[in-house]
Amino acid sequence: MLPPDTALWNFVEAAVRDVFRAYNFQEIRTPIFEATELFARGVGEETDIVSKEMFTWEDGAKAADYAVYKRWITTRFPGVSAFQQIDPDTAESQSPVPTMSVQLDGKWNFIVFVYRLTAQAVLELKIASEQLDNNKYEFRLVTADPLPDSFRFLVGEVAVITERVSLDISSQLLTLRPENTAGVVRAYIQNKLWDRGLNKLYYIGPQFRRERPQKGRYRQFYQIGAEVIGPPASGSESPARDAEVLEMLATLLDRLGITDWNLELNSVGSSQERVKFNEALRVALAPLKDKMCADCQRRAVTNPLRVLDCKVPEDQPIIEKLPRITDFLEEESRKHFDAVQDILTKTGVRFTLNPRLVRGLDYYTRTAFEFTHGALGAQNAILGGGRYDGLSEALGGPAAPGIGFAIGEDRLVMSLQEKTPAESVLRKPDVYIAPMAGMNADAAKLARELRRHDLVVELGDDSFRKLKKSFEAAEKAGAKYILIVGENEVKSDAFALKNLATGEQISVPRAELAQKIQD
Ligand code: AMP
Repeated sequence: MLPPDTALWNFVEAAVRDVFRAYNFQEIRTPIFEATELFARGVGEETDIVSKEMFTWEDGAKAADYAVYKRWITTRFPGVSAFQQIDPDTAESQSPVPTMSVQLDGKWNFIVFVYRLTAQAVLELKIASEQLDNNKYEFRLVTADPLPDSFRFLVGEVAVITERVSLDISSQLLTLRPENTAGVVRAYIQNKLWDRGLNKLYYIGPQFRRERPQKGRYRQFYQIGAEVIGPPASGSESPARDAEVLEMLATLLDRLGITDWNLELNSVGSSQERVKFNEALRVALAPLKDKMCADCQRRAVTNPLRVLDCKVPEDQPIIEKLPRITDFLEEESRKHFDAVQDILTKTGVRFTLNPRLVRGLDYYTRTAFEFTHGALGAQNAILGGGRYDGLSEALGGPAAPGIGFAIGEDRLVMSLQEKTPAESVLRKPDVYIAPMAGMNADAAKLARELRRHDLVVELGDDSFRKLKKSFEAAEKAGAKYILIVGENEVKSDAFALKNLATGEQISVPRAELAQKIQD
């Protein structure tokens, strides 16, 4: 991403922060990568995202788990009399790998635990051996690396005994976040955010999915999202929250000038209602699925709900005739959905009902929605979201109903580009200061003064011998004015200011410059 395009991104983000503030949302920043397990549970093993799109790697240097190491040591050396742990997480520690010292028959053992026999681990031992008395210490490296049992090596003068272990100094699987809801809910649980009542959080940041890159679909893309989450007593389950989130999104899109959006709305019911619906789909699909695409054949068995998501044209007539979730909603869910629609109608937010709109996971409940925009072509969804009343529990937390959405920022910017070119939101220099020979210092002083008045000032260079070169640079930068700083000007404390559009040139006293340029 390069300028001037980044100006459009900044324009979008400034509008987002402004609108979200009016609804009392506050920013949360979660890590770019988290334990793979979080996404497996929080997004769902069954989804395309988890099953084939995550960037995942194995990290050997798992955070120290001293309970595990201690257990290993006491089993391995029953006579151990004293422990000393050097915790990589403490400020005093220089060591990024978990290390322990244990006293055995009066002799200390310095033990480094690493998953792989890395250069870092060897360096660690080297530093330790230089600091510790070799006669009093034995140096041991405990690793899960496949090494011969009696493998020994020298670090400097010191023989290091290595031991291969199968204990859990194991590696950890980490994943670049493919979406942000799981991270927010993890943060909610870890930081006991229920103490704050209802949380209204938003984020802006990159997400990663291993997809085939094409227009509107990238491996690193940006999402702007928000989550309303809290204990049931905080009103987090209320249809008023769903409607507020949807109304906020309508306001945001309108404010950005994307007025021809479509809000598609559905209710996917409670988890019990969905079980019944899924079963009905399974039954209905059994005799039909062989005529459908390969994905649908698989989904018809694993997760029939996802069949409704299929975009293959040939499958559409079959899907049209399948049972509809609306027929499976019971009283409470129906009331919830009606209330959401009622508020939207009263607040003047238009929507269309789309009974095929689903979110495929068990803990997604009730309201599901998508905003689409014609200008985007095949990848026409700008944003999607819904209620996830069971997600916190699925991640090991307390009941915390919530609703959220994620806007694809790349696509949002793309839909803006036509009406709002990046150039139109880019703030060009108000003035280009052109110093004559030897006048750089005076020019810098003047630039400093003018910038204090919130003017955008581009500062030239006195090596441009000819003024013509400064004029060219000023035009190229798109400056409104050029200001000439020569010896005469400095002496008289009045400067030649030329309007580059009209060609008009006047001499302006220093004290009046900022005002004149602002006019
Ligand atoms: P999802 O998390 O799949 O519901 O996606 C939410 C929004 O993120 C979508 O509506 C898209 O606008 C956007 N999005 C999802 N995947 C990508 C991608 N690979 N590239 C660009 N935008 C994406």
